[in-house]
Order: sequence, then C-alpha cells, then structure tokens
Amino acid sequence: MRKKLFRAATLFICHLLLLSLFSCGEDVKNTKTVFAMDTVMTLTAYGKDTSAALDTAAKTIRELDKKLSYSGKESEVYKLNSSGGKPVKADDDLLTPLKVSLDVSEKSGGALDVTVFPVVKAWGFISKEYTVPTDNKLASLLKNVDWSSVKISEDSVSVPENAEIDLGAVAKGYASERAAETLISKGVKSAVISLGGNVRTVGTKPDGSKWNVAVVDPTEPGTKTVGTLKLGETSVVTSGGYQRYFEKNGKRYHHIIDPKTGRPAESGLISVTVVCDDGTYADALSTALFVLGLDKAMEYYREYGGFEAVFITDDKKITVTDGLVSAFTVSDDSGFEYAK
Ligand code: AMP
Ligand code: MG
Repeated sequence: MRKKLFRAATLFICHLLLLSLFSCGEDVKNTKTVFAMDTVMTLTAYGKDTSAALDTAAKTIRELDKKLSYSGKESEVYKLNSSGGKPVKADDDLLTPLKVSLDVSEKSGGALDVTVFPVVKAWGFISKEYTVPTDNKLASLLKNVDWSSVKISEDSVSVPENAEIDLGAVAKGYASERAAETLISKGVKSAVISLGGNVRTVGTKPDGSKWNVAVVDPTEPGTKTVGTLKLGETSVVTSGGYQRYFEKNGKRYHHIIDPKTGRPAESGLISVTVVCDDGTYADALSTALFVLGLDKAMEYYREYGGFEAVFITDDKKITVTDGLVSAFTVSDDSGFEYAK
C-alpha cells in the first residue's frame, strides 16, 4: 500500500505536466523548487534577473504554509481551532481563502465545507494512518460539520467550540495567487507557478505565445494525458480521486469527502480541471465541483459562471465547458470519448 501511495504522490507532483516551457532568444529560464503544503512546488520565471523575485515568491509560499497549515505554533488555522469558539483576529491571508471557501460552500449547497476536517482526519488522510471509519463515528462527526457555523467579521473569525476547519482545499490556490502577485510586483512578465495540481501562469511564454497545460489522464496519471489546454495568464487547478487515496479490501478510498455522507465523494467524476483567473476560486471550485458531479457542476457553471472546466467521468467521457472548447485539444490516443 505504501508503494502505491508513494506512487500516487509522485504522480500528483507530475500532475498537469507543463509542456513547451522552453524559452527562445535571450530569455533566461530560472527555476526554483520549494517543498511546502505537503507538495513539491516548481516556480519557473523567464527573463533577466528573475532569481531574487523567485526567492521572494518562495518565501511568500513558505510563510503561507505556516499560517494556513492545520498545525504548528505559527498557524492561524490552529489558533482558530483551539480558541474555544471565541472570535480570533484574522488578516487577509486567513480571511481571503476563508471567504472564497464560504462563498463556494453557499453556492454549491455545502459540497465544499472547511468544517469537514474532523471527518478527513477520521479517514487518516492527515496522519496517513488510513482507516475506514464506522457509520456511527461518521454520523457523530457529521453533527459538527456545517460551513455556515463559521462566522467572519471585518478582521476576525470564529468557529464553534466543537468544530474544526482546514483550508487544504483552497490553500494552494491562494498561495499560487500570492506567489504570482509577488513575481508580477518584482517585474516578472513570464512565469509558471506549479504547486502540485495547481498551476498559475503569469503573462505568456517569452515568445508571446500561449502556455500549453496538459490535463492528466486520471486512470493513468503517471504516463498519459487526455489533452492539452492552450492558455494565457490564468489559473488551472485539478481535483481528482487519483491524487491521494488508499486501498482496503480491494476498494479505493480517496481524499475528497462528500460532506453530506462523510465518505469519499462518488459523484461519477474522476477528475475536474477548473480554469479561472483567480487561483483561490479555481482551487475551491475544483474540489466543490468534484463532489457535486457533472450535472450539478454544469448547473453551477450556468448559474454562476466566472470559470471554465474540463470534466472527466468514470464512464470515460470528457466534457469541456463552452469557453474552453477552442483552447482544448484531445490527445490522439486518449481512449476517452470527447464530444464537443
Ligand atoms: P483538493 O485537492 O483541492 O481538491 O482538496 C482536497 C483536500 O481538501 C483534502 O485532502 C482534504 O484535506 C480537504 N477536503 C476534502 N474534502 C473536502 C470538502 N468537501 N470540502 C473542503 N475540504 C475538503
Ligand atoms: Mg481544491
């Protein structure tokens, strides 16, 4: 099992493999690798003298890792979870991802829910000691799962004493956004920030053409892609059951929990890739839409919009929202059915 998990983690790192990153002419390519948020992250910038900007962006990510992690003395989330239900002062780094999460929670009918954390822990996705919780255990934990119990004011947040939150579903998206802001403020015009399944691009490729972002085949994530997206400056985030899971008695249990059942979501979707100008929203949405399933996800898209998506279902079909049809090219040997 360990081997499988290790392989899944490695594949996750390779997820949304970036193609054609080669620069031309005088543009220098600079890369920095950071390990944060349980993920190997790669920051790549093009142009002269981008090294200091990359260092600052990496520092930004490391600081956010400490602030937004569920544990540790410097963690704002930990402070909130151990505040006994009292309001805790919060800065933008906590408020922004939390506000985005709650907005998506409301619009998705609770498919995304930061208070699902105790359930995530019960499955062992935090300790990595995996177990299948009993029905009773899940029922008792679900009593305290309710995103609407999280209260936000201008500069503080509170969660009830018997609840705990975790920003695992949005923190990388927020971090990619802050890292991009840092690079842009330092004059970087062309860059790719790749945080596991979260990709944030800055500008275009140095020659002015669009980036190619591959969409991984969720059934063979290490070796195959189902297609490629040609995109300018944006965020591309994928949630998939293949990114973290364990197996017990021949059944696979993945890390995206349906807050209604307390169990890994079985919505028929095996991967959702969201393209959105805001990385925090892209991350929140990819998790929420994965839980909702294709039909409800499309309802969400039609009602609220503001993003595009590639959906892959367990019956081996690819569905692409209207705004991405011209950007998406299906792989010749994808083995998936793609109807425009
Ligand atoms: P992502 O990889 O962005 O889809 O986020 C998945 C991570 O968020 C999991 O590893 C859990 O820590 C947490 N999580 C799982 N299910 C949910 C959910 N329904 N709402 C909020 N967070 C979740
Ligand atoms: Mg997410």
